[in-house]
Amino acid sequence: MESRKSPLAGRRAILASMHGKERAIGPVFKEILGVDIEVLGDLDTDQFGTFSGEVERPGTMDEALVAKARHGLKISGLDLAVASEGSFGPHPQMPFIPAGLEKLVLIDAKAGLVAIEHSLDMSPCYASWEARSLSDIADRVHAAGFPRQAMIVRPNAGSPARVQKGIQDFEHLEASIAQAALASSDGLALVQTDMRAHFNPRRMKSIESLARKFADRLSRACPSCEAPGWGVKRTERGLPCSWCGAPTEWVLNEVMGCFVCDNERPELRSDGLSEADPAHCPYCNP
Ligand SMILES: [Zn+2]
Ligand SMILES: [Zn+2]
Repeated sequence: MESRKSPLAGRRAILASMHGKERAIGPVFKEILGVDIEVLGDLDTDQFGTFSGEVERPGTMDEALVAKARHGLKISGLDLAVASEGSFGPHPQMPFIPAGLEKLVLIDAKAGLVAIEHSLDMSPCYASWEARSLSDIADRVHAAGFPRQAMIVRPNAGSPARVQKGIQDFEHLEASIAQAALASSDGLALVQTDMRAHFNPRRMKSIESLARKFADRLSRACPSCEAPGWGVKRTERGLPCSWCGAPTEWVLNEVMGCFVCDNERPELRSDGLSEADPAHCPYCNP
């Protein structure tokens, strides 16, 4: 039903990302947007950076995303492309908590549209351990979801030996750790969760929920220029205090906007809240 209203309905898009991400993005884009996601078998996106560090990601995350999608447009000859990027590390405000930033881009060459949407996963499957042997970390590897969650193993220090990726069985993991520990100058192997989507079930799920959020936004056209992607661009503070009516730090309006033109329209909060708690008022509860 939704897809009939979608400004992108009936179009084909190239997904310029490997690692089985079409399983997370394809069904959602079809259902919400009426867009068919296609993949090219020989599309090598590792040239835009790998998680395991063999290829550095050139430029910013957004630049890498857009470069991937443009590469997809060129190779496929289609006029619609989607690409995905993830970045994992300490949370920017809480450095002891790991966080996963996922981004999706959609480029519509016909409309001159470059739309980017993101989400933050506060509990990604992202961890690493140093170990002499599998028995050192067997419990933790298991708790991280191994063997469905794959592992990467390399020497911890001082050896250019090859990285073992996508490990999903115990014998292989045990042998790789022993081998890497032997090759490392400190006698330790570095074991990490594989962050590629088809080896990281948690990541595949978070890409799917981001695809849903993105498709919902893209299904609405801008009332002025009709480009896909009419949605919340930013928020404005100033919700009135329920006692004295003074503006508070609480969100008053959600400003709807477009990815292409400057058209904006403030709308009242979508949750219907019209007054702020006086505890947050600068006058009633200083
Ligand atoms: Zn007040
Ligand atoms: Zn517009």
